Amino acid sequence: MKIAVMGMGVAGSYLVSRLKNDHEVVGFERMDEVKHDSICAWGSIKSTMTDLCKKSGIDFEKYVVHDGKKMHVDMNNQERFQIGLHGLCTYEKLSLIKDFIKDSEVHFGVNKKLEELESEFDIIVDCTGFHRIYLPKLEQDFCLPTYEYKIEYENGVPFDDFYIKPFPHMSGYFWYFPMGKNLAHIGAGDYNKQHVEETNKFFKKYGGKVTKTVGRPIRLATPNMCKPFYKGKVVGVGESIGTVYPLLGEGIIPSMMCADIFVKNLGNNESYEKEVDEYFKIYGKVFNFIRTKLHNKFNLLRMLPDLLSIFRYMKKNEERFGMEINMRDLMKVAKA
Ligand SMILES: Cc1cc2nc3c(=O)[nH]c(=O)nc-3n(C[C@H](O)[C@H](O)[C@H](O)COP(=O)(O)OP(=O)(O)OC[C@H]3O[C@@H](n4cnc5c(N)ncnc54)[C@H](O)[C@@H]3O)c2cc1C
Repeated sequence: MKIAVMGMGVAGSYLVSRLKNDHEVVGFERMDEVKHDSICAWGSIKSTMTDLCKKSGIDFEKYVVHDGKKMHVDMNNQERFQIGLHGLCTYEKLSLIKDFIKDSEVHFGVNKKLEELESEFDIIVDCTGFHRIYLPKLEQDFCLPTYEYKIEYENGVPFDDFYIKPFPHMSGYFWYFPMGKNLAHIGAGDYNKQHVEETNKFFKKYGGKVTKTVGRPIRLATPNMCKPFYKGKVVGVGESIGTVYPLLGEGIIPSMMCADIFVKNLGNNESYEKEVDEYFKIYGKVFNFIRTKLHNKFNLLRMLPDLLSIFRYMKKNEERFGMEINMRDLMKVAKA
């Protein structure tokens, strides 16, 4: 088949690498090649990324920058605790994206119209993430604004490992993700729009040199809210159809998983939709939990069954989340 993959983020680039041997695949990216970037903190889980990258003949280990041992959690200065990490790492996300597409036809700096694509391709995959350019607009979208710096520390880093500070009512969190010896991504996403202020507060306290400033909304609306997944020749994969785990704002692995489901069901949109719905079912529950917290409607008794199923899901997938999952920590965040 002749397939256009629109957007060379993690979903699009991985998809190109997964399809290139069996189909005629052409990638398109709106950014110029020299400006091509990935607005993200570049954190993911080693074991799952290793398995996914293996399918594209790539050794993930080569891209790992920082292998986490513990995450410092700062509950708004009231309490601090640590979570043991088993696989959470940062990696060279942009280098991996480039390697996914290095032997394929990809056009940068283009903004293709749907009509142009429709006359040339059998399938057009919308991997434009938050933008969701080629699919109908969503009726009930839900996005969080984010802001991030890449910081260079000349006189030692402020933290030796991952550090996060969740905001009250689960409106978002601040993150410090180590990016090697003297670099880190610091940033925040916040429904209450304190993301820039919180990032600058940390920057003011710990200093360093800003080498990059980025920001974009992240879609937390989960796949059940992101219908339709397909229309005409267009099919959505990745954040364009809501594949972000809302509790963590984690979208890399879920978007690659979504690409795998797409490959498996290529040409059968109904079964693709069914499998995405099934795989991401729990995401809807997690989103509801966060929404009740945000709107101050959280009632522990009423929410306990959902909270328990979220806990069970994360506990069962502890390796996939790369960290120790226990109810005590989840409750601390839930009660904040
Ligand atoms: C600040 C921030 C930090 C994050 N940190 C993490 C993290 O540490 N770990 C994690 O797992 N997740 C993180 N996420 C979420 C994660 O980055 C995304 O969910 C994931 O990258 C989604 O992948 P995607 O390929 O679907 O979309 P994207 O990565 O957004 O890629 C979409 C691509 O489409 C391109 N595009 C847009 N319009 C067009 C067009 N018309 N034509 C062609 N191309 C187009 C864009 O330029 C972009 O390259 C973070 C998100 C943000 C905003």
